[in-house]
Amino acid sequence: MNTHKPVILSLTKMHEAGLGLLREAGNLKMSSGWDQATICREIPGADALVIRTQGEINAAVMDAAGPSLKVIGRHGVGFDHVDIDAATERGIQVVYTPGANLESVAEHAISMMIALSKFFMPSIEALKQGDYFARTKWMGRDIKGRSLGIIGFGRIGKRLGEIAYQAFDMKVQYTDIMDMPKHATERAGGAQRVDLDTLLATSEYISLHVPLDSSTRKLINRETLAKIRPDCILLNTCRGPVVDELAVAEALDESRLFGYGADVYEVEPPPVPGHPLIGRTDNVILTPHNAAQTEESLINMAQWMAEDVLRVLQGQQPRYPVNNPQAVAAARLKLGL
Ligand code: NAD
Repeated sequence: MNTHKPVILSLTKMHEAGLGLLREAGNLKMSSGWDQATICREIPGADALVIRTQGEINAAVMDAAGPSLKVIGRHGVGFDHVDIDAATERGIQVVYTPGANLESVAEHAISMMIALSKFFMPSIEALKQGDYFARTKWMGRDIKGRSLGIIGFGRIGKRLGEIAYQAFDMKVQYTDIMDMPKHATERAGGAQRVDLDTLLATSEYISLHVPLDSSTRKLINRETLAKIRPDCILLNTCRGPVVDELAVAEALDESRLFGYGADVYEVEPPPVPGHPLIGRTDNVILTPHNAAQTEESLINMAQWMAEDVLRVLQGQQPRYPVNNPQAVAAARLKLGL
């Protein structure tokens, strides 16, 4: 009988819905840090590595783990900080939790649209200072019926489109590199597919929902910002490096952009002081990468990820694989590579 309890190294705290499963099935160890040296020191012999957004999970980390490492579980969606090719090369399965936090991120984007449109931030600040008469200082606007451009019409982008159309009768348009079946756009009021330039030039709200990769890094830059309407509110709840923050600050200063809302930053944690956007309140709303920090999302992410990590450790197929190391290895064998 195999009595080996798998060693699971976690770089993150998470909801008990997932931690409990991992603790029950394995020998769960919490890392003492996220920097490369700490991870490399603590990972040797681990069968599984559990991560969130912190830590750069590259080939060196995988090599430090040694051949025992079978699975990396990403609590969340973006996996731009994991070297997927290196994992596949080493036969390591990577799993993640697509869809586990889509409601929370879509609601976060909607909240930012409302807060910026109604000048919540400066009016709350004014009231705090005792300035009740600031009530007539800003002219807010309603979002009903306005145009919303969604860049990246995947799980979160589609859900945002549905809420915007169904709750606010917004005119939804999107751009994506994938073809969308008609049923995928119906719940968002038959969202119109447009090219990026059209979306930039015609949207009163633009919301970013792409993964971070070479096609999306600095997608919003001086050149693309120059195409945006001056009454546009731009939202970034996907990944910080998709936006050139300095270019956004310039556009706001020159009234070429109405407002900016973000949950993510080019560098995380962002430098304070010294960040070009943090500290502005009139037309900026910023949150500390906590769009998915809701009870529902935290339970889903922890539980789905833990279940998949355990599936892999038990030799089963994961529900949410990022890569397919077995298929790659089989294809290599067939080709005699
Ligand atoms: P998804 O994979 O379902 O959707 C991404 C969409 O972007 C896909 O339809 C894809 O085809 C499209 N896309 C890719 N490259 C593109 C390009 N160059 N131009 C236009 N479209 C492009 O992912 P999702 O679940 O909707 O999540 C989107 C992103 O949101 C994630 O990659 C993650 O980085 C981020 N996210 C952030 C938080 C947070 O806490 N703020 C939480 C969850 C997800």
